[in-house]
Amino acid sequence: MNYALVTGGSRGLGAAICKRLAQQGLGIIVNYRSNESAAKAVAEEIIGNGGCAELLPFDVSSEESVDAAFEKWEEQHPDDRITVLVNNAGIREDNLLIFMQTDQWHKVINTTLDGFFYVTRRVLKGMLTKRFGRIINIASLSGLKGLPGQANYSAAKAALIGATKALAQEVAARKVTVNAVAPGFIKSDMTKDLDEDSLKKLVPLGRFGEADEVAALVAFLASKDSSYITGETISINGGLY
Ligand code: NAP
Repeated sequence: MNYALVTGGSRGLGAAICKRLAQQGLGIIVNYRSNESAAKAVAEEIIGNGGCAELLPFDVSSEESVDAAFEKWEEQHPDDRITVLVNNAGIREDNLLIFMQTDQWHKVINTTLDGFFYVTRRVLKGMLTKRFGRIINIASLSGLKGLPGQANYSAAKAALIGATKALAQEVAARKVTVNAVAPGFIKSDMTKDLDEDSLKKLVPLGRFGEADEVAALVAFLASKDSSYITGETISINGGLY
């Protein structure tokens, strides 16, 4: 069976992406770090709708945790392969740089950037051997324009966009595409403490986006229809720049 691995698939954008990719007939590997009940609910909904899903907890920022989880999965699935990887797990630790703690800097960079590296290199070999793969990295508007109070997050997401462009060129000959998606304000746990009423006035479309809207874009990039798009960063932000 062909699987899609979605890091941070237990909540928010990741959960919506899991459900949407399941509709494309892929088995779904729902990764999460700690929220097992939320991840279980996502998998149960997919299975309830006739799809196939399983949980694979690991911390994307820990090389040991990623490698141990992959060894277990590969042992249990000798005939299956991961054809779609969505590097979605991410965190925010906002602070003005002058007040930013070392821990806040590293936690954000490690989750987004180290996470991309540890997970992608594990998945890539199978994609290159089989000459097909879709890698979609969830970046952010913050990584394109930089947002005050988010030097750590903006740096991590900008670096993820750079890695997307580099890797796309490395693997294109094997029909593996690598793209980034850069959302603006999307409703989720990550944005629930923001002042939506005032921030939505900045958005030309006049509202925050829905996780399902991001999932639809990711589903297109994961499909065969996107075969001539690679190394690209696609914004989904209601017109906000
Ligand atoms: P969210 O609701 O806070 O969910 C974050 C997800 O990431 C959860 O599933 C969480 O797992 C998982 N996660 C966090 N750290 C992890 C780690 N070290 N290892 C494995 N999983 C980890 O966030 P979201 O809004 O859906 O954001 C998803 C992605 O979109 C992030 O990369 C974020 O930067 C990006 N993004 C979001 C927005 C927005 O407006 N929401 C805008 C631009 C970009 P647990 O449930 O186990 O904690």
